[in-house]
Amino acid sequence: MARIAFIGLGNMGGGMAANLAKAGHDVRAFDLSSEALERARTAGCLPVESAAEAAEDAEAIVTMLPAGRHVEAVYADLFAANILPTTLLIDCSTIDVATAKRVAETALANGITAVDAPVSGGIGAANAGTLTFMVGGTDAGFAEAKPILAAMGQAVIHAGGNGTGQAAKIANNMLLGATMVATCEAFLLAEKLGLDAQTFYDISSVSSGQSWSMTRYCPVPGVGPDTPADHEYQGGFATALMLKDLKLAAEAASGARADTPMGTKAAELYQRFADDGQGGLDFSAIIKMLRG
Ligand code: NAD
Repeated sequence: MARIAFIGLGNMGGGMAANLAKAGHDVRAFDLSSEALERARTAGCLPVESAAEAAEDAEAIVTMLPAGRHVEAVYADLFAANILPTTLLIDCSTIDVATAKRVAETALANGITAVDAPVSGGIGAANAGTLTFMVGGTDAGFAEAKPILAAMGQAVIHAGGNGTGQAAKIANNMLLGATMVATCEAFLLAEKLGLDAQTFYDISSVSSGQSWSMTRYCPVPGVGPDTPADHEYQGGFATALMLKDLKLAAEAASGARADTPMGTKAAELYQRFADDGQGGLDFSAIIKMLRG
C-alpha cells in the first residue's frame, strides 16, 4: 500500500481521502479548514499542518481543490519543498485546460510526473467510491495513477496527454448543461401542448430525444427515477458548479477557436439562474426559470 498525500478535503475530497484510507493506503491529509481535517482523522487519515508536510516521502499527491489558482499555489509549495522526484502528482480538481497543461509542464521541468484526473459523479459518488476518472498524462503516469484512482472510483479512463482529462470533463459537462436545458424545454413544450409529463417521458425516453438528462436525471418531479427534482432540487449537482464548468468550457472553446453556440447559450441561462440566487439548487432546477 502506498503513502499518499491528499490535499483539499472538502465536499468531494473528504470522501475520496476516506476511501483511500479504507483501501489500506497511508493517507496524510491537509486542508485549510480544521473541521475538514477533523473529519479526515475520523475517516482514518493522518491530518497534518501543511501541504509540504503531507507530501514528505509520499509516493503520490492527490489534490481536490476549487480552481486552477489553488492547484498552482499548492504545487508551487510542493516544488519549493523539494518533493521526491519519484512522487506522482494527481490533480482531481476541475480546472481550466491551460493551467492543467502548465502545471504538468512545470512538474516535468522539476523531474516529476503529473496527471490531470478530474471526476464525473458528485458527493454521493465520492463517498461511495464510484466516481469516473478521466485522466490526462503519459502512458506511464496513467499506469501509476490507475490503481490509486481505482480505490476511489468505478472507472478510470485514459483520455490522452496532459490536459485531455480536463478537456473530456468540460466537453462532457457542456453537453450535459445543454441537454438538460433542452430536456426541460421539451417537457415544457409538451405540457403547453396538452401532453402529460409521464406520457411524454414514456415516449421520448425510448425515442430519438432520449438522453441521460431525461432517463437518469429527469428534471420533472414524480417522473422517471428518483432524482433531485423529487427533493425540491436539493442535493445533486449544484447550479453554481455547472456554471463553473460551462465557463471553463467557454474559455477553452475561445482559446481553441471552437464554435460552441449551444454551450454559450447554456452558460448564459445558468448565469441568469445563479444571479437569481438559485446557485445552490441542483442544475435540473433550471426548469423552474424556464417555466417563468
Ligand atoms: P469544496 O469547496 O467543498 O472543497 C475544496 C477544499 O479545498 C476546501 O475544503 C478548501 O478548504 C480546500 N482548499 C482550498 N485551498 C486550499 C489550499 N491552498 N490548501 C489546502 N486546502 C485548500 O469543493 P468540492 O465540492 O469538494 O469540489 C472540489 C473540486 O471538485 C472542484 O474543482 C469541483 O469543481 C470539482 N467537482 C465537484 C463536484 C461536486 O459535486 N461537488 C463534482 C465534480 C467535480
